[in-house]
Amino acid sequence: MNRSVLKLRRCQRRPRVLDGHPWVFAGEVERAPKDAVAVDGHAADLVDPRGRSLGSGIYNSQSKIVWRRFARDNGVAWDAAAVAGRIDAAVARRDPSAQFCRLIWSEADDLPGLVVDRYDDVLVLQALTLGVDRMLGVIVERLRALPGVTEVVLRNDSPVRRQEGLDLSVSTASGTGLPSRWFAVEGIEYRLDLTGGQKTGFYLDQREQHPAVGAMAEGRRVLDAFCHQGGFALHCAKAGAASVLALDSSAEAVEAARANAAHNGLTVTAETANVFDYFTSHREARGLFDLIILDPPPFARSRSALEGALRGYKELNLRALRLLSPGGILATYTCSQPVDRALFRAVLADAARDARRSVTILGEPRQPADHPVRLDFPESEYLRGHWLRAD
Ligand code: SAH
Repeated sequence: MNRSVLKLRRCQRRPRVLDGHPWVFAGEVERAPKDAVAVDGHAADLVDPRGRSLGSGIYNSQSKIVWRRFARDNGVAWDAAAVAGRIDAAVARRDPSAQFCRLIWSEADDLPGLVVDRYDDVLVLQALTLGVDRMLGVIVERLRALPGVTEVVLRNDSPVRRQEGLDLSVSTASGTGLPSRWFAVEGIEYRLDLTGGQKTGFYLDQREQHPAVGAMAEGRRVLDAFCHQGGFALHCAKAGAASVLALDSSAEAVEAARANAAHNGLTVTAETANVFDYFTSHREARGLFDLIILDPPPFARSRSALEGALRGYKELNLRALRLLSPGGILATYTCSQPVDRALFRAVLADAARDARRSVTILGEPRQPADHPVRLDFPESEYLRGHWLRAD
């Protein structure tokens, strides 16, 4: 089969791929003559309107993103050997001693649409593009062969798959069920269901933050808003916090946080609550906490939702600052990809002004190194944090 070639159209708006971004949108390419049409889920070369090479990518006419680059040169294969080689390269870039980490991070590892997280001996993968889904046989085989791996869970239940024309399902490589069990992450045991639950089972991207924030908690009255299974709350309790209140709107998450606290012999009060309502009903309780953690779900997944999201972040941080004692610490995060560091900082400055607090930056944490950020792919960076002291 001849190699398929896609040609960029001359557009009024300059396609980002010309500046190194790895995506091409449907309206940005010329309709190729029928005999040169690329096959969905297969490799195609991209050329600019003058025919100059822009690299190799996987093509999918069913997606809004019709082409995702996986190599800078044209003519690079997307076959079993190539995909296996990319998996090995991504794994080689990770710390071999890390029992819990992201092994493969999609475009940032030149495997567009493949996400793989390691939970000790179990790998959990998400195939989010047709090009990756088509290669799942090879991918699972390669992952199962990695040292210490006993099972691969295929968490192919993300709704994003529908945008690529793919069905939703969850299965295991062995074909047997995987009951939830205890995993020790950063010195705390969590009962994890790797076939269900949010993300791939745990917020691995916050695992370094849990003990880091815990290290500031000794003797403090702590609020872990948006606690999920209790990562921050448990580390704060372990580090000797005076008290720890953990809130989440999901009763299931709160149940998990309670069970995790009991199993680890730690004292955490976990309650089902909407954080916004909690803040409203406690708005007069100034100085109630000495350390507040805000780790909400993404308020904006796209640019169009940005304005509303910024209002949400401001409101949340303003209310938290009001409840902090003098010298209190706010560890606040956003995982909304379009809310970049400058925007987030501006929102926090607004909140501090309205709360009439002088606020100092103690740290600006980011996503861990196993969730690599590519300079030419801003979408690979989504998690930003600020540690603030409010006087
Ligand atoms: N801090 C956690 C991850 C939090 S994810 C960790 O490090 O593991 C965000 C959580 O916020 C989810 O568990 C979700 O159930 C919860 N949530 C979403 N909206 C909420 C709201 N309005 N009030 C309270 N919790 C909410």
